[in-house]
Amino acid sequence: MSTEALDANALLRLRGVHKRFDDRTVLDSIDLDVAAHQVVCLIGGSGSGKSTLLRCVDLLVEVDDGTIHLGATELTDPALDQRLARRRIGVVFQAYNLFPHLSVLDNVALAPRRVLGRSRDQAESEAMALLTRLGLADKARDYPDRLSGGQQQRAAIARSLATEPEVLLFDEITSALDPELVGEVLDVVADLKDRGFTILMATHEMDFARHAADQVCFLDNGVIRERGEPDQILTEPREAATQRFLARLL
Ligand code: ADP
Ligand code: MG
Repeated sequence: MSTEALDANALLRLRGVHKRFDDRTVLDSIDLDVAAHQVVCLIGGSGSGKSTLLRCVDLLVEVDDGTIHLGATELTDPALDQRLARRRIGVVFQAYNLFPHLSVLDNVALAPRRVLGRSRDQAESEAMALLTRLGLADKARDYPDRLSGGQQQRAAIARSLATEPEVLLFDEITSALDPELVGEVLDVVADLKDRGFTILMATHEMDFARHAADQVCFLDNGVIRERGEPDQILTEPREAATQRFLARLL
């Protein structure tokens, strides 16, 4: 991709990101922008590098080369205060996001107390407000195993929002759900988009990507092969690799 297409004003900016595991290149020269209030969907086959890319942004994986910026902060700066930086990033994984030994309310209130130094009362009332917004007020006192998979993922989203992050990273958050529970979680994501959140997400839900994404990036073997507006990528992909990937989903 030509550098003119990159957006120096984007909230999240990856430039030339490389990641190797042993001798294997898993991310190769990744340039990616997520502008404020935009939703960018990463699509691609299993092993294409989607999770690794998200983990690099979340500082769970150290990049071998390249830079990642969140606003004015370089996340790849070795001198970065990772604890401070990670507060600004909300993450939800495919599954096992919640602490099983804590109530849903405590799951959501934990980070604001520990990380933001909120009092118990304030953290709990804010957590309750978030759970109410996500339709989980009546589950607040339950333990996660009493919730359906869809409710657990909505609670995990509530938890990711509790520290008021600037960017949300969602890694296939509906992949482990029974099909009938996928919609309620994607509805929450669509609502977050409407509220102006900035979201980078890996997903296999192409209908969702088509309707909710501002940009879709097709990742293949650690390379962004193609990117663009969802209708173009999903309906008229230019690259043969994208065409093959989409054809396999039919
Ligand atoms: P995706 O999320 O698109 O399925 P991943 O980012 O999980 O892809 O994986 C990309 C490649 O990196 C895969 O080949 C995977 O086996 C490899 N990989 C991921 N994490 C590790 C790790 N911690 N150590 C070694 N290899 C890894
Ligand atoms: Mg993955």
